Amino acid sequence: MSTATSSDVLALPFLQGGPKKLLIGGEWVDAASGRTFPAVNPSTGEVIAELAEGDAADADRAVAAARAAFEGPWRRLKPRDRQDILWALADAVQEHYEELRLLEVLDMGSPIGPRKSRPSRAWEASVLRYFAGWATKIHGETIPNSMPGSVFTYTLKEPVGVVAAIVPWNRPISNAIWKIAPVLATGCTMVLKPAEEASLVALRIGELLAEAGVPDGVVNIVTGFGETVGAALTQHHDVDKVAFTGSTATGQHIIRAAAGNLKRVSLELGGKSPDVVFADADLSRAIPGAAMAVFSNSGQVCCAGTRIYVERPVYDEFVEGVSEFAKKLRVGNSLDPQTQIGPLVSAEQLDRVLGYLELGRAEGARTTAGGRRIETGDLARGYFVEPTVFADVQDDMRVAREEIFGPVACVLPFDTIDEVVARANDTTFGLSGGVWTRDVGKAHRLASELRSGTVWVNTFLLFDPAVPFGGYRMSGWGREMGQHALDEYLNVKSVWINTD
Ligand code: ADP
Repeated sequence: MSTATSSDVLALPFLQGGPKKLLIGGEWVDAASGRTFPAVNPSTGEVIAELAEGDAADADRAVAAARAAFEGPWRRLKPRDRQDILWALADAVQEHYEELRLLEVLDMGSPIGPRKSRPSRAWEASVLRYFAGWATKIHGETIPNSMPGSVFTYTLKEPVGVVAAIVPWNRPISNAIWKIAPVLATGCTMVLKPAEEASLVALRIGELLAEAGVPDGVVNIVTGFGETVGAALTQHHDVDKVAFTGSTATGQHIIRAAAGNLKRVSLELGGKSPDVVFADADLSRAIPGAAMAVFSNSGQVCCAGTRIYVERPVYDEFVEGVSEFAKKLRVGNSLDPQTQIGPLVSAEQLDRVLGYLELGRAEGARTTAGGRRIETGDLARGYFVEPTVFADVQDDMRVAREEIFGPVACVLPFDTIDEVVARANDTTFGLSGGVWTRDVGKAHRLASELRSGTVWVNTFLLFDPAVPFGGYRMSGWGREMGQHALDEYLNVKSVWINTD
C-alpha cells in the first residue's frame, strides 16, 4: 500500500460492518443512546466511518467494567505476566502498524510520507516494550526507622486503580499507547476516551488488545464528546485517576471535575515554546530545524517551537531562510507520499487557525510566507493552510502568547542572552524550549534557565520512551515516558511490622 488511496483504506475490513462500537468489559457494544457521529477525512471532508456516541451512561458502564477487572485476577497477575502481555501488544502493534498508520493518516491527516522514510520499527511498539521492562521492576524499599524496639518498615508500590485516560487527536497511535503502556505496566485498569476528531486508531488498537491477551475489562474504550462522556469520566467517583493530554483550558476543567473525589490527575497540556537561535548557530541546520519544529504535523504539536527568537546579526538571513523553507514545503492530501504538510484536523481547527492568521496581520506582524487557506483544486475540499511565517512579531501580540496549534511560526529578534532568557520565559506555559548554537556555554546556560520540561539543543521534537516528557506551569502536571511516568500510576504504601 505504498501509494494507498482513500478507497484502499476504506476497504479495510476494520471499516466494514456499520458504525464502530464501544469496548466495554471485552465486548463491542453500541452506545446506550444509540446515537453515532461521523469520522471525517480532513484531506477531503469526506465521512469515513460512523462512531458510537458514548455518554454518561456508557462512562458508568465502562468504569464498572474497569473496576471489576481491577478487583479480579488482573490484580494478582505476576509482573512477568503483565510484561508478557505488553510484549504481545507491542508485537501486535508492530504487525498491524501499516494499517494503524493508514487509519491515522485518513482520520487525522498526518502525512504518510515516502515509503523509504517510513520506520521499519513502530515507535509505539518501542514504548510498549520499554514499559514491559518496567513491569518487573516496580518495587518498594526497606526503610530503617528510629523506633525503639524491633519495628520493621518497608514500602509497597501499588497500582492507583481505575484510570480515565482522555486523549487528543494530534498523534492518535501515540496518544493511545502513551497511556495504555504505563497502565498495563503498573497493573491499573482504564477507560480510554479518544478524541472525537480521530478515534479510529484507538478502536483498532482495542481489537488488538484481545489478540495480545489483555484480559477483558482492563482496557475499555469509549468514544464520544469531551463535554459529555469526557466530563462524566472526570467527575466519576469510582475513577481513581485521570491521565489527560489536551488543551490547557480542558485541563483546568478536569482539575475542577476531579475535586469531587480528589482523584489523582496528570496533565500534558499546551505550550507556546521558545526556540532561540544564536548568531553563532549553523544556520544551514537551524533554519530547517526551527522550521520543522513549527510546521511538523501542520503545527498540531503541543511542544512545537512556535516563538523563534533570533539574534539580531542573523535575523534577516534567518527570516529569509525560514520563509523560503516554508514556501517550498509540499502541502497536500495526507495519503500522497510526496506530501510534507497535511491538512488541519477539522473545520473547527481550520477556523481557529485562520482566525489567528487574521489576528497576526491585524496586530502588525509581517507575513513573509503563507498566511492563507489553500483553496485550489482538490485541496479546497480539505482543511489546508499555508505554512506561515510572521516576522517582526512583538512579545505582547496574541499570536506570540497564545497556542495556535497550526503551521504558524512567529519570529522575533533579540540582542542579548539575558534579554532572550527573560523573554523566552515570559509565558504562562513551560512545555519545551529550543536552542541553536555552537557555543556549549550558551547551550548549558539556556538548558538551565529556560523554564520548561524539555530543552532541545541543536535539535527539536526528539522523543524516547526512556526520557521524561511533560510541562512546567500551565503546560501540565506530571511526566510521561521514563521511570517518572510510572509514579503517576502508583500509590506508595508504608508497612510497619512490630517483630517483638
Ligand atoms: P484540543 O483543543 O486539542 O481538541 P481538548 O482539550 O479540547 O483539546 O480535547 C482533548 C480531549 O479532551 C478530547 O478527547 C476531548 O474530547 C476531551 N475533552 C474536551 N473537553 C472535555 C471536558 N470538559 N472534560 C473531559 N474531557 C474533555
